[in-house]
Amino acid sequence: MKAFLPRIDIALAQIRENARLLSELYGQRGISIMGVSKAVLGEPAVIEAMIQGGVRFIADSRLENIQKMKAAGLITQFVLLRTPLSQAEAVVQSVDISLNTEIATLQKLSYYAKAHHKQHQVIVMVELGDLREGVLPCDLAPFIRETLSLPHLKLVGLGCNLACYGGIKPDDRNMHALSILVNRIETEFQLSLAIISGGNSANYEWYQSARAIGRINNLRLGESILLGRETVSRKAIPGLHTHAFQLIAEVIESKQKPSLPFGTSGQDAFGNVPSFQDRGVRQRAILALGRQDVLVSGLNAHSKLEILGSSSDHLILDSQQHPLRVGDEVNFDLDYGALLAAMTSPFIHKQLIKEHRQTAPLSLK
Ligand SMILES: *Cc1c(COP(=O)(O)O)cnc(C)c1O
Repeated sequence: MKAFLPRIDIALAQIRENARLLSELYGQRGISIMGVSKAVLGEPAVIEAMIQGGVRFIADSRLENIQKMKAAGLITQFVLLRTPLSQAEAVVQSVDISLNTEIATLQKLSYYAKAHHKQHQVIVMVELGDLREGVLPCDLAPFIRETLSLPHLKLVGLGCNLACYGGIKPDDRNMHALSILVNRIETEFQLSLAIISGGNSANYEWYQSARAIGRINNLRLGESILLGRETVSRKAIPGLHTHAFQLIAEVIESKQKPSLPFGTSGQDAFGNVPSFQDRGVRQRAILALGRQDVLVSGLNAHSKLEILGSSSDHLILDSQQHPLRVGDEVNFDLDYGALLAAMTSPFIHKQLIKEHRQTAPLSLK
């Protein structure tokens, strides 16, 4: 029986090992890990592998993913990464901790926490330069004062997020700034904060080079668990698996064709006027995979296959160096953007496997 195509094979053992190695590495200096589930849409088997690997929390930016994981029976502390608003009532019902930056939202969370006889835990995010979410340091003390006045919330920590929008690297300076703010808030308000969440997969280089990590005791890791990479320069982290996800698609046409289109030129399917180089007649293959499934620029194929282009549902390869027949399967590595899109595509089957075969017929280098 042939497996469904296109599909993503997800090697659970490799994800479990990545989670374990990262939990041990960061645990050596007292940093706990939130495993971030959004890139796999909270796929329960993948998240279970993260939990088995030792992550202490599961964090997602979408409430729906958290609800799915809970419905599947996963038991851990669930964290909502994106500050909620209209979903506040459902958030206090399904989520243990949420990240927040707006008083209006905290008021709603407190209101619904009261209605449901709950106490909702919050981490306040601080803006340290990346210009995505966060309260500016100069506004932090009054913000914390208001947060503490809301009776059904419990302030459990401070956090920051870097290297997402502005491309600002976590370094000794901004991590030290977060530690100083933690100390100030604790002194001013006579409290102790349990979770100081210093960032994401981009924090690896800082952690490896930092002499002192200050008050940082938590990181939220998605890409480094799933793809084995840090995200400042996308280097592989030593010892981690970087091929846990493989995208596999089938060849639906294989022919010798000229490399220059013929006829009168106009726009392509996406409104661009493409240009081509004449390389003579070449062996080409078409795969049943397209931009409606994946971010094609984030795919990495066999070294002898070249991706020439794609439309909504066809991917065109130059296969001159590596002949392909109709019905052959082609494997790809995915970067984070390609993984995110492929996991979200309803057309791509997600197949959970233990480990990848060592020698797939068209496996990677
Ligand atoms: C997505 C997300 C993360 C995880 O980022 P990775 O680069 O995948 O580790 C961490 N924190 C927040 C707030 C996020 O939205």
